[in-house]
Formats: sequence, C-alpha cells, structure tokens
Amino acid sequence: MVQSYKQKHQLAEHYDTILIGSGMGCLATGACLAKAGQKVLLLERHYTAGGYTHVFKRRGYEWDVGIHYIGEVNREQGVLRQLFDYVTDGELKWADMGEVYDRIVIGDKIYDFRKGVKNWKDELKKHFPDEHEAIDKYVDLVFEASKASRTFFSEKAMPKAMQTMLGGQMRKSYLQLARKSTLEVLQSITTNKELIKVLAGQYGDYGLPPAKSSFVMHASISKHYFQGGCFPEGGSARIVETVEPIIEKAGGTILTNAEVKEIIIENGKAVGVRLWDDNVLKANNIVSGAGIINTYQKMLPDPYVKKFKLSQQLDQVTPSAAHACLYIGLNGTPEELNLPKANYWVYPDDLDHDGLVARYEKDLDAPFPVVYISFPAAKDPTWTERYPGKSTIDIITVMPFEAFEKWEDTRWKKRGEAYESFKDNLSKRLLEVLYKLEPQLEGKVDCYELSSPITTKHFMNYDRGELYGIDHDPERYEKRFLQPRTPIKNLYLTGQDIVTAGVAGALFAGFLTASTMLGKNVVKTVLKQTK
Ligand SMILES: Cc1cc2nc3c(=O)[nH]c(=O)nc-3n(C[C@H](O)[C@H](O)[C@H](O)COP(=O)(O)OP(=O)(O)OC[C@H]3O[C@@H](n4cnc5c(N)ncnc54)[C@H](O)[C@@H]3O)c2cc1C
Repeated sequence: MVQSYKQKHQLAEHYDTILIGSGMGCLATGACLAKAGQKVLLLERHYTAGGYTHVFKRRGYEWDVGIHYIGEVNREQGVLRQLFDYVTDGELKWADMGEVYDRIVIGDKIYDFRKGVKNWKDELKKHFPDEHEAIDKYVDLVFEASKASRTFFSEKAMPKAMQTMLGGQMRKSYLQLARKSTLEVLQSITTNKELIKVLAGQYGDYGLPPAKSSFVMHASISKHYFQGGCFPEGGSARIVETVEPIIEKAGGTILTNAEVKEIIIENGKAVGVRLWDDNVLKANNIVSGAGIINTYQKMLPDPYVKKFKLSQQLDQVTPSAAHACLYIGLNGTPEELNLPKANYWVYPDDLDHDGLVARYEKDLDAPFPVVYISFPAAKDPTWTERYPGKSTIDIITVMPFEAFEKWEDTRWKKRGEAYESFKDNLSKRLLEVLYKLEPQLEGKVDCYELSSPITTKHFMNYDRGELYGIDHDPERYEKRFLQPRTPIKNLYLTGQDIVTAGVAGALFAGFLTASTMLGKNVVKTVLKQTK
C-alpha cells in the first residue's frame, strides 16, 4: 500500500534506485526496475500518489485530474497495451469510449472524430467533399511521422557510443517533420481554413496552437486516438493501485508527503536525496520524474549546475501553457443525465486558433479560445457502483499563469474573496458553454470547483502551472539533453519532458529510462515475451 512519509513507515538503509515523483514516468521506471530485481523507493511530494494520474475526492465525488482518455490500449496485442500490461501485471482494465471519441465544435457545427482510420476519414470527407485528397494526404503524413518516431525515441536510450555513431541517422527523418509547425504542414496539404481548424481540433492535448506546435507532436496525438479512446476501469487511481504491488513485491515502496529538497552528489556521482525534513536517503541511482526544470533549477547543488551548464539547457526550453479546470459534481447517474462518452472541443467561429489564443491571453473577457469538456463518470463502467446517483464532468480551458500570479503567495483554500469571485465568474462562463451543448444538465449541478494555475503549482510543483511540462514547439525535438541520461553519473530523468506529454508519452519515457539504466531494450524484451 502507498504510505505517507509523515506516518510510521519502514525504510531500508539503502535502495537500488530512488525515484523523485510518482507520475506515470516514475511508476513505469520503478516497475521495470522492480521486475529486474531492484529495490526502489518513489518519493512523492503530494499527499496522494500518481502525479497527473491522481484523483481527488471531495463532497462525496471523485475527480480525475490528468486523464480523460488514452488511445491504443483497446487492442491486447497493441504495443502500448502490452507496456501497460507489463507495468500493471495486466491488472489495469480499459473501458472503450465507443464509436466517437472527440467532437470538434466550431460555432454551431459539430465534426465527429470516429474510431478507426477509415471511419475517421469517411466522416471528415462527408463534411469536406472537395478535400478527399488532402484528408488522405494528412493521414499518410501522420503515419509517416509515427513511423519515424520509433528510431528517434529509441536512440535516447542507447549507450553513448552508439548514440554518437548512429544517432544522427536515427533522428534524421523525424527531425525533418519535427522542424515544421503543425500549421505549416496543414497549409501544405490544403487551403481550406475550416478543415485546418478541424484537423487541429485536439491541440489542447498538447497545449500549443498550430502555428506554434511541432507537427510531430500534433501527429502523435492524432494517431494515438485514431483507434478510439479508452478510460481506466475504476478511474485513474487504478494506475498507482496496479503498479504499486509490483514495486512492493521487490521490496520497494511508494511514499507520499515526501518532498525532495536536494539531490546529493558525492565525487561527481548522485548518491542520495535530502528530504524536506533534512533526512537523507541513499541509493545507487537517482531518477527524477519531477520535470527537467524542477530537477535542474531546484534540486541540484549550484556547483554542478554551473559545471554542466544546466541553466543554459533550461534557457532552451519553455514551460508549457497553464490551465483552469472546472470540476463539476451532478445529481443523477450518467444514464439519467444522458451524458455522452465523447469529449467536446468547443471553439468560437473564428477559424484562426492562434489568433484566438493571442487575443484571449491579452484579454480574458475575449471568448475562450478552446473549451474541453469531458464526462469521466460516463466513461468508467464501475462509476455508478462506486458513486450511485452521481456524476462528474470536467471542463478545461487555457489560463495564463499571469492572470492568477497576484494570489501566488496566498494559502490554498484561503486565497480571499477576490480570488473566489474571479474564479466564479470564469466558472459560470464555462458552465454556459456546457449548457449550450447539453441543456438537460441545467439545474442538475450539485457543486463545482475551479482549479487555477496556482492550484497546479501548489499540488504538482510546476512553477508556472504547466499543464504538459515543457512546450512541444519545433525546437524541443532538437534538444539532445532531453533524454534519460544526464551529465551527472547515476542521475537520470524520466517522464513527459524526455518523450512527450500524455500518459503514453510518460509511460514510454519510463521504459526508456529503465532501458538506459539496465543497459537493455526493455520494450523489445516485453514485446518478445508476449509474442
Ligand atoms: C488537466 C490535464 C489533462 C490531461 N489529460 C490527459 C489525457 O486525457 N490523456 C493523456 O494521455 N494525458 C493527459 N494529460 C497529460 C498527462 O497526464 C501527463 O503528461 C503525464 O501524466 C505526466 O506524467 P509524468 O510522469 O511526466 O509526471 P507528472 O504526472 O507530472 O508527475 C510529476 C510528479 O512529481 C512530483 N514532484 C515534483 N517535485 C517533487 C519533489 N521535489 N519531490 C517529490 N516529488 C515531486 C509532483 O508532485 C508530481 O506528482 C493531462 C494533463 C493535465 C494536466
């Protein structure tokens, strides 16, 4: 069982590996190392484990924070499903969301993203009868990027000498596509602005509008969901619950309320960590899944930051956008309320995603550039058994950190009236968007609570309230330091910053980090085993 550092717990004198954070990246690295016989310790700063896969419970409801849907897990033989099965011993079950996973709403028009590449294409071709060729070309490019991604990402886990020898070649074809923005690529296949707006309709999944995001990030999300979306049966908390026994079986532990203050380096090697209460814990290896900015800016002693020019690395990356999420509790089961399983992506009529974001960043009274609505209670087949007579909805929009910065130093839950009324105004605007699409829900809302970028900072330790770690702009893919190995011996990175945002990206990062540390390709081993 996950334990709190503040309660009585049994700690070993020494661990094979200490991992900082308990997000998907650390959970996956930890499980792989445990399966290789290592005794690992995961130290999580939050009072609950899982990173963005955690859930929180209040007023008799449970809300998922950073999982609304995951692709490519509905086929048992699929690579991602096999990796998930490996780190959860097949105990994590998935519920399929059905035929439609995303609904792109632009003004009064709705475009459904249907499960299966052919269905997906056919549906879009119905809306855009003159754009068949562009739609086919688009899908081809998405698959081209996906194919090129395999060698690009596996290179990150190769031994240094092999990286030097083969790296350039392995990265080349992916980089050619990564250097282009999403907009550049979409404009190369069509001049139809409405089609471009629809194709980029999931940009909220990586947090950057089309002129700013790298095409490969866009393509990886698009492809990830082509076969539909799934939700963890029993909610996102099942991820930690199913990984933890594997860690425990090998003698390891996950501890919450265990903030790491410093990574201890001796003779140029990472040898341990100092916790918030100055307690020191030692291990042969240290892995940080707390984000590259947190790791280099807050946890490493200055001389090492200087020696290895780590600040210069951080100057080359940008924190991703922040968000606000309205967590809603409703009276009634998902069936009674007729809640859909598909997510809505709601946009104003204006066809320029980037322009809408820029306008909104300057003036929060401008229309929301994007509103994402998810119905987790409808997606989880165990929900009604666990929470009879209730439902939940999450509504997310982008929210500049600066809009909330003035309350940064106030205490959670005690931030004052001005903060609450600012949030309430935003909440009501978001509810209006919901009622327009699902009018039957008016009068059914029991409670709601808006999280702000400073909530994210408070609980997740992302200083600018980042939603997705560092930005997925074209430059990101050129940064070779975004890999498991760091310049400091026995210190490794994992999580979304070294692959991409998304639970799948972080999971894959976990495998890359474990592969680097164990000196073998763990993904290949898993796939061979299950064949
Ligand atoms: C609102 C939202 C919705 C999302 N929806 C989806 C979705 O539907 N599908 C999808 O695939 N992805 C989604 N994502 C993205 C996905 O959740 C993340 O990309 C992924 O979970 C990140 O995993 P990670 O391993 O990088 O670490 P994180 O989950 O970021 O965890 C890092 C952990 O490190 C801990 N930490 C930080 N500093 C310290 C310290 N000093 N000491 C100890 N611990 C520390 C933090 O508390 C945190 O728990 C969403 C994200 C958000 C925010």
